[in-house]
Amino acid sequence: MNHLGHMIVGLIVALIVMIVFGSFSFSLAGIALLGAILPDIDLKQSKASQIVEPIAIIGLTLFLHGFFSSYSLLVSWVASLVVSLIATYIVLKILRRKHRGITHSFGAAILFSAFGLLTLGIIGGLVGLVSYGSHLVVDRL
Ligand SMILES: [Zn+2]
Repeated sequence: MNHLGHMIVGLIVALIVMIVFGSFSFSLAGIALLGAILPDIDLKQSKASQIVEPIAIIGLTLFLHGFFSSYSLLVSWVASLVVSLIATYIVLKILRRKHRGITHSFGAAILFSAFGLLTLGIIGGLVGLVSYGSHLVVDRL
């Protein structure tokens, strides 16, 4: 199934959770859409890679900038960008060793659910779990 199909299925199962618990937000919908396509980050050309890779590099650069703040402005930005690029490259290299490997596992679904839980609470955790899980189930059909 392509990314659009995964997003539709992930959003439908997430909407069921949101209706059951009487809680809807665009943030929850965002977690659902991300969870539905994130397992395919192990493919370089996937929508998940196209979306998540630049966001990870930018976010990590901004995060790391504080650690290099004792240097000049140019040096601190260049150093944080270089470290971000290297770290992102290494993580994606590990994740992309095999398609439908570690990113298509129950453990990865639990990890993504933890992200949803920490950012949006218990419903975020459930939405993260069912949307990520929907991708894993649909891939097996
Ligand atoms: Zn997949």
